[in-house]
Amino acid sequence: MELAYHKIIEINNKRARNRYPRLYGKNSRLPEHSYGGDCYLVEIKTDKGASGWGLGRCNEEIKLKMIGKSVSEVFDPNIGILSPDARCLDFALHDLAGKILKLPVSKMMCDTPLASVNCYDGAIYMNDISPDTRPGGIDAILENCRYDYYELGYHWFKIKVGRSGKWMEYNEGLKRDIDVVRAIHKEFPDAILLVDANDAYTTDSLFKFLDGVIDCNIYWIEEPFQESVEGFQLLREYLAKHSPKTLIADGEFNPDLPLLMDLAQKKLIDVFLMDVEGYGFTNWRSMMKTVNELQISASPHNWGQKLKTHYSAHLAASFQGIDTIEGVPDLTEGIDFDDYQLKDGYLWVPDKYGFGMDMIWTHSIS
Ligand SMILES: [Mg+2]
Repeated sequence: MELAYHKIIEINNKRARNRYPRLYGKNSRLPEHSYGGDCYLVEIKTDKGASGWGLGRCNEEIKLKMIGKSVSEVFDPNIGILSPDARCLDFALHDLAGKILKLPVSKMMCDTPLASVNCYDGAIYMNDISPDTRPGGIDAILENCRYDYYELGYHWFKIKVGRSGKWMEYNEGLKRDIDVVRAIHKEFPDAILLVDANDAYTTDSLFKFLDGVIDCNIYWIEEPFQESVEGFQLLREYLAKHSPKTLIADGEFNPDLPLLMDLAQKKLIDVFLMDVEGYGFTNWRSMMKTVNELQISASPHNWGQKLKTHYSAHLAASFQGIDTIEGVPDLTEGIDFDDYQLKDGYLWVPDKYGFGMDMIWTHSIS
């Protein structure tokens, strides 16, 4: 097998900066998400001149364990990484193997991957109340939607809600959550809307909010409150009555996998949201089999950087059950990912080897 001929000879840590096109404001729990930040990348080189890279950072101990091994000792194209030691190299090894085997990662995982995947806009933050020095009101959020729809090509919006917890007085915050969703629905009546409360609601405040917006094409409700069987039972009953097609999505923050499985078996959760990096690409590959057995769906959490959106695009192109993925509008300095094109709400996955992105220049770090 071709991967067996390539021996790992170098592992290099890198740092890059990603930049958002505007200030991403508050969510229900956190203050401004700023204009982007740093991310760590790791590059692997082989003795045959191949290289791959991806999000991750490798310590000296793991480097020593990996250097000298053949790629096939640490990676299987049908599985992913073969040992937890290679966790920090999960994306980089997928990229490297794709390049050696001359396959896009999606094609390494599936003979007939989709060419494009539905991708929603994950960047509609609480810019009505951000920044504190000059909050923009609802108009600021509508302007964000216009930019992302007309300039970037997003057609689905995920809207941050839950102002009544930390940022506004209870009734005022609840009203603002409703007014924001209704204003977006009014201006974009065909747009599919997702709402994300980052666990800020109680059942009582959630149902008051939903009473105000349930006619607004609500595709899913994400992290309404800390997940529990009792809470999600009440939510399921509410949805069965008022909007049976609306999905319940959870598992992003500090996922409790046994509880998520229990909720899925009880049909109280529809979409698993564990982070593509935090949970891991290889783990997601194997989790998709469980997702299909449970007859639910999944959408790996990608917030932070578009690199993660692109990784998830390969999963969505290869596995049934990922109906939409989180889009992060950003640029990562030194990375060329222009071959990924977003058009009419669909992200087109490039027919290039590995993850199909080029690292032009990034800072070397230890
Ligand atoms: Mg979320």
